Amino acid sequence: MTKKKLGLNTICAHIGEVKDEQFKGAVSPMFLSSSYEFLDVEVKRYPRYFNTPNQEYLAKKVAALEHTEAALIFGSGMAAISTMFLAFLKQGDHLVVQNTIYGGTVNFIKEEFPKYGIEYTFTNGYTVEDFEAVIQDNTKLIHIETPSNPKLTITDIKAVAKLGKSKDILTSIDNTFASSVNQNPIDLGIDMVMHSATKYFGGHSDICAGAVASSEAHIERIWNVGKNLGGSLSDMTVWMLERSMKTLGLRVKAQTKNAMKLAKWLDKHPKISKVYYPGLKSHPEHKLAKSQMKGFGAMLSFELTDDLDSEQFQKQLKLIKSSMSLAGVESTLSSPHLTSHSLLTQEERDKIGISDQLIRFSVGIENTKDLKRDIDQAIAAL
Ligand SMILES: *Cc1c(COP(=O)(O)O)cnc(C)c1O
Repeated sequence: MTKKKLGLNTICAHIGEVKDEQFKGAVSPMFLSSSYEFLDVEVKRYPRYFNTPNQEYLAKKVAALEHTEAALIFGSGMAAISTMFLAFLKQGDHLVVQNTIYGGTVNFIKEEFPKYGIEYTFTNGYTVEDFEAVIQDNTKLIHIETPSNPKLTITDIKAVAKLGKSKDILTSIDNTFASSVNQNPIDLGIDMVMHSATKYFGGHSDICAGAVASSEAHIERIWNVGKNLGGSLSDMTVWMLERSMKTLGLRVKAQTKNAMKLAKWLDKHPKISKVYYPGLKSHPEHKLAKSQMKGFGAMLSFELTDDLDSEQFQKQLKLIKSSMSLAGVESTLSSPHLTSHSLLTQEERDKIGISDQLIRFSVGIENTKDLKRDIDQAIAAL
């Protein structure tokens, strides 16, 4: 049986299990050894080498989900992305990076790249022309994020991958928002896919982890840098992540379905002035999203009408929590101007259209009628 032929939920439930040879238990045993035999063994195992049994096997699940030859599990999404960048960029190299990426990635690039002598350019927009316009002779990597945070813009994955190939430049994507359930960028030509596994892979708001999936050759290069940087994940958390990922398909599909229902409902709501969701026909890149995503994801954002105070609104909610992070089975909201984009100036936020009325909504698995009722009662209370 080849992994690619297995269905999503079968991969989630079975690929990457560590067989319990000793007791024949139903689930993977947890191997907590930080010290392994080194004589007469095929693999010299050590937690920081990303090759303890639990780490090695969970990576197979991620690779199967992303249709790649290999993957690595990291201690956080930032450990994954920073290790990936440093594996492919050295002094004098140049990174082309989308302007609407995750704030932590922006900070990493701006604060750390100058220390390594790595150059970078943020694009002016998110179309393939915007990427092409800033490529230099020394560009070695193009990094994209789609759907992006917080306004769910969509970048043409196939076009960017083609652009990279035509100029011998590698391409990488942050696939956290869509998750492997809704988008498989490798099939569209992208070279490397990374995830904050803190989000949908974990899915219960109780794990911090990351992952990168790619070819054997690229993963070996990332491994070589990763063992030096030391960003592997503890086996106890690897085990928890494996358990969480068994329901990844079920969770994300339910959340995606809920998001579509809520986006449509919010779009008609008299107290909501704007909804950003790639599944809505009114979304500027709806057709593109449809062509490259299997589902439109469970993240959306919306703007309250100007007469409503967005902070007070969140305080009035009883079921939906305001929260920094996202992608749990429980619905959460955040104010980008107070969280992910708080380090930007008001002027910078205005430029990219992040108003104080904008709210990012991570839709959970609850019954949508309860979520709608919660939103309505919070608006009524203002
Ligand atoms: C959270 C997040 C990250 C960073 O992941 P951590 O696990 O917090 O290090 C990267 N990209 C996106 C899109 C995220 O949402």
